[in-house]
Amino acid sequence: NLPVIYGITPTYTRIEQKAELVRLSHTLLHVPNFHWIIVEDATSKTELVTNFLKSCGLPYTHLLALTPPNYKLKTTDPNWLKPRGVLQRNAALEWLRTNLDSQSKGVVYFMDDDNTYSLQVFKELRNTNKVSVWPVGLSGALRYESPLVKNGKVTGWFTAWKPDRPFPMDMAGFAINLSLFFKYPDAKFSLKVERGYQESTLLTNMNIKMEDLEPKAKNCNEVIVWHTRTEKTKLKNEDKLKKRDGHGSD
Ligand code: UDP
Ligand code: MN
Repeated sequence: NLPVIYGITPTYTRIEQKAELVRLSHTLLHVPNFHWIIVEDATSKTELVTNFLKSCGLPYTHLLALTPPNYKLKTTDPNWLKPRGVLQRNAALEWLRTNLDSQSKGVVYFMDDDNTYSLQVFKELRNTNKVSVWPVGLSGALRYESPLVKNGKVTGWFTAWKPDRPFPMDMAGFAINLSLFFKYPDAKFSLKVERGYQESTLLTNMNIKMEDLEPKAKNCNEVIVWHTRTEKTKLKNEDKLKKRDGHGSD
């Protein structure tokens, strides 16, 4: 009776989506007692994600939450301009609160669809009493960002970007015991907070203090997750072929 890991993954349509989901699912298939909550940023569930989930071999819940147009990134926007995945993660939290109860044994982990996860991270976060933390590789314009640990306790942060945030860490760098979502039924993410404050918003909503944090990954000396990002695929040759085959912009 391992606690269930609830992995929450926002996802949206773009040509790399299937590749991201396949790669992530092939990691997750190695994780026992795992439940995947996939939340599509779309107006209706897409055929691609629906079919993919049916055959992926994982226990899952398929949800929907559309980012309103005024908060949606345009393809020409730099990706940091608007928050990403906020309403999708909140929809997953609502599902957890509706379908589980305060006695359910579980841990919640926010997993973006393009990151890279060592199987080790699931072993580490499985035992999370309140909030467990660990370094995240390739994050914050550093080789890694990390909590600083002294005598088994988090005492500060190795981070350069907005280091004065209450919890200056990436979404991939912590997990939360499910019971806290029932103890703090209003704790969630918000579209209205300053850039970089999503993690801090949720954790301060839950009245978490630095001394509550449980360092994992050899007292935060190992990198076992990476904030990898997929290059935007160039499609200029698609147009070339269309023109050559006489299906130009007519
Ligand atoms: N995402 C989304 N809708 C969007 C953009 C992103 O649901 O319009 C999802 C995306 O699939 C990922 C998460 O939100 O799971 C974080 O987005 P992204 O990886 O682009 O952010 P970054 O890693 O660059 O901060
Ligand atoms: Mn990402």
